Amino acid sequence: MYVLTREDARQRSASIKVRHIDVSLDLSGATRESHFPVCSHMTLVTATPDLFIDCAGIVQQVSVNGIAVPYTHDGERIDLHELPTDQEITISVDAQCRYSTTGEGLHRYRDPEDGRYYLYTQFEPEDAHRAWPCFDQPDIKPQWTFHVIAPSFWVVTSNGVATTTDLEESNTRWDFSTTPPLSSYITAVVAGQWAIVDGGTWEGSAGDGASACLDLRLMCRQALAEAMDSDDILAVTRAGLDHYHAHYGYTYPWGSYDQIFVPEYNLGAMENPGCVTFTESYLSRDTPSFALRQKRANTILHEMCHMWFGDLVTPAWWDNLWLKESFAENQGTTTAAEATVYTGEWASFAIGRKAWAYAQDQYPTTHPIVADIPDIPAATNNFDGITYAKGASVLKQLVAWVGEDAFYQGVRLYFQRHANGATSLDDLLTALEEASGYDLASWKDAWLLTTGPSKLSVRTTSDEDGKVTSLTLLQEGLARPHCLNISYWTSRGDALQCISKDRVRIEGRDLLLSVPEEFSVPGGADMLQLIVVNDDDLTYAIGTLDERSTQTALSRVSRIEETITRAVIWSHLFAAVREGELDPRRYIDAALTHMTAEKEDAIFERLLATIAQSRTFLPGHVRGEYDSKILQAIAQAMRATSLDRSRSLLHLFVDVWSAGADTSYSDSLVALARGEEGELLPLIAGEESAWVVRCALAARGLVDEKQLDAWLDESPTGENKTRWVRARSSIPNASIREAVWKEVLSLELSNHHLSASLQGLNASSWEGKEYTDHFFAELSSFWERASMGLGLRYINAGFPMNLDSDRPDEAEHLLALTRQWLTDNESAAAALARLVTEKLDDCERAFARQKQWQ
Ligand SMILES: [Zn+2]
Repeated sequence: MYVLTREDARQRSASIKVRHIDVSLDLSGATRESHFPVCSHMTLVTATPDLFIDCAGIVQQVSVNGIAVPYTHDGERIDLHELPTDQEITISVDAQCRYSTTGEGLHRYRDPEDGRYYLYTQFEPEDAHRAWPCFDQPDIKPQWTFHVIAPSFWVVTSNGVATTTDLEESNTRWDFSTTPPLSSYITAVVAGQWAIVDGGTWEGSAGDGASACLDLRLMCRQALAEAMDSDDILAVTRAGLDHYHAHYGYTYPWGSYDQIFVPEYNLGAMENPGCVTFTESYLSRDTPSFALRQKRANTILHEMCHMWFGDLVTPAWWDNLWLKESFAENQGTTTAAEATVYTGEWASFAIGRKAWAYAQDQYPTTHPIVADIPDIPAATNNFDGITYAKGASVLKQLVAWVGEDAFYQGVRLYFQRHANGATSLDDLLTALEEASGYDLASWKDAWLLTTGPSKLSVRTTSDEDGKVTSLTLLQEGLARPHCLNISYWTSRGDALQCISKDRVRIEGRDLLLSVPEEFSVPGGADMLQLIVVNDDDLTYAIGTLDERSTQTALSRVSRIEETITRAVIWSHLFAAVREGELDPRRYIDAALTHMTAEKEDAIFERLLATIAQSRTFLPGHVRGEYDSKILQAIAQAMRATSLDRSRSLLHLFVDVWSAGADTSYSDSLVALARGEEGELLPLIAGEESAWVVRCALAARGLVDEKQLDAWLDESPTGENKTRWVRARSSIPNASIREAVWKEVLSLELSNHHLSASLQGLNASSWEGKEYTDHFFAELSSFWERASMGLGLRYINAGFPMNLDSDRPDEAEHLLALTRQWLTDNESAAAALARLVTEKLDDCERAFARQKQWQ
């Protein structure tokens, strides 16, 4: 199958200028047919007589200026020859494209609860041509006009603003206004029986002479309409529009602002101008928790930033994906922290997203922020911890380095210069250099073109009187320029008090720091109980705590008032666990001790996640002991905290319980699954919680398929159907497992049901070990047969990660199979090999840690 390469894309955009694409879709048969008719009229000038057009449908006719012409089509790419050159022509392609169930192209979902249909497009990086013929690369930015025929009781939205005309046979035609120049990957159509919340209008201007008056609409499935907490979503939306207009100097140009929460989404959200799509898991029938709302606010503001970074000014190719993603991640967090009630967002970033970046950056597959992306599969892989979280962190460092005013001045210059265009790295750096007066060439080399996190620590010396005589900041790994804060703490009664916080710049291996007066007196060294490197999280580097600071942190971190400081400390501690420098048991003990006192929900959530991860670094026999302790602590905490937190605690409880052999809570969990108060556990209301428990019981064989069916019948919602798929797949029963495995390989499962099936198979207490062998035996063939989206799910949900150094034969078998697969498949797609290499690295790390902490 043809794969679009950077070279082909470069040659094509160099030889054509596409002015306009007019797309007509007929979705009137959406409830009956497998395909929909579509026609694209592309108006362009080409300098060469040979040209290819991307189209993954069944091509029926290609014409040039209304006259049918010969063509070849390999399923992805239409090749045309002998085109008239250097004059405006219109190429029209009639095709039939397929409704998708993989979340790529035009996804179609039938809600099992009420039979209603919901359709939406998802294209990044290159799936627009699954829905309509086009030039599917980011630096070709024509204007677009969409026309959609759909059943009259449907709602349709797209990038433009619609007018409607009633047609015969109960259909309506929706004609959308022509867009400003737009890359194919952010064109969009959303159609179906969506519920709509009219959020009123937003009016404003960025002071550039233009003004915007936007209808704010929210949409979701009818079945979820009551779960739409529109007040919060709209408040964040309005705050974001105000904030970006105050900083960007360029008025929002896209005419409307629809936000649609869609089912079976492959990612968090997508920045289609005026037609932003989000995963509907940001809504919850059980009332979303504060932590979830905070995450959603960040995503809303991330996507909104893209209206400028990405949509208005677009990276010319996927090497510079960071030019939009790192900015959106940085700006989404900044805006949430500064302009909404979610003020803890930078703390959340420091403890959560940064860990994603550090982990990704320590894989053998790591890459510079500005990456080498030869083709589309490589692009798909790069929506990762480097492009998002490391990039955003490096931008935070840049703001610290050049100052916030200069940063935004550079950004405004960049928009003015490149609006509606496609850019590369130098375009941005030139604007930032002009605005800041800094030469950013060496900054670029050090931060954007290198890999791996540096490590920062402080070495302390003292004399025999106990005076601190020197403090030295040390940089290991790559020596980069950092501007950072270092804080020094001492005990005051129960609390920890910050004696001094200093801003320093380091460019080389070490830097002598000034010793705060309080510590340069006799006995001062004893007073210095905690040194926090990178306090406020200004830079990107793994910070190391010395043993004294580690002890202080483990015992007293929740006594620190500043949220960001606590987040940074936990981040340092968990990095040490990953590195094998801190015993996971010490970490888990501290996390269990401090979690109830932790005020910031995002930190609380992260502590639960890292407890779960730290467990995997312990060998089975040690983990067993620890699990009982963890279960006890969580059960206790669940009784004494908010509903939000008890739900999260229940998740962790069930995770730990499922993985272990502790049976003391089984009866209580069976009660919870039935919706009753358990003897040892409080009832946590809500279907999601009930199904979390049901899945765990199924995985341990404590409920059967019939019981699961009965629960689903009680409330046959789309969300519950997916939970049922997962629970059923995990039942330790040979014939069920065989049937599920067949379904997985059939490629007929939707994206979400595929993941749920694989997660279930993986989570089961089934003793047979054939799953691991099956997984590897089918890996290459699955990847080749399936779409990229399903291939990613096969690996991420299906890779068998449960290894235990107490069962060395099994663990070695998994490692050997993985290594063998990599050796045998040297010619496998680079994207696939990269994912398997990363999984191997995760397994090797866990195995090494388990052997270390016997
Ligand atoms: Zn993004």
